[in-house]
Amino acid sequence: NALRAAAQNLAKQAEAGVPTIFDKIVKKEIPCTSVYEDEKVLAFRDINPQAPTHIVIIPKDRDGLTQLSKAEERHKEILGHLMYVATVVAKDLGLKDGFRIVINDGVNGCQSVYHLHIHLLGGRQMKWPPG
Ligand code: 5GP
Repeated sequence: NALRAAAQNLAKQAEAGVPTIFDKIVKKEIPCTSVYEDEKVLAFRDINPQAPTHIVIIPKDRDGLTQLSKAEERHKEILGHLMYVATVVAKDLGLKDGFRIVINDGVNGCQSVYHLHIHLLGGRQMKWPPG
């Protein structure tokens, strides 16, 4: 359908190197509420939160990682770093009773921004299975 085609088109554009909204956030062309930053990654509050705490954690340099399924050997370090930063941010924000990490991949995964990112969700009881 049209939505799937639109999502596939977004993925293709990103693969071709077209900047996404997250590149603009990294360049500070679009503001965000940042909760963590280092040389490699940036974490900020999601504009459309799905939980009391909803953080998006991204590599500053996309480096071909439009989505998780594009990962190559060279991405192992940044992938580990993103996951570790999620635990640091969860601690900083007081998510002591647990949290959820989500990576949406591709059309079936409901990915909407083709710049790899980890969602950190917390502050409420989650359900399983996810929708
Ligand atoms: P995805 O659907 O690709 O897994 O996640 C993309 C996330 O980025 C969504 O949860 C969406 O709300 C968030 N998002 C999209 N645009 C912006 C923005 O301009 N600022 C912020 N803070 N979050 C955004």
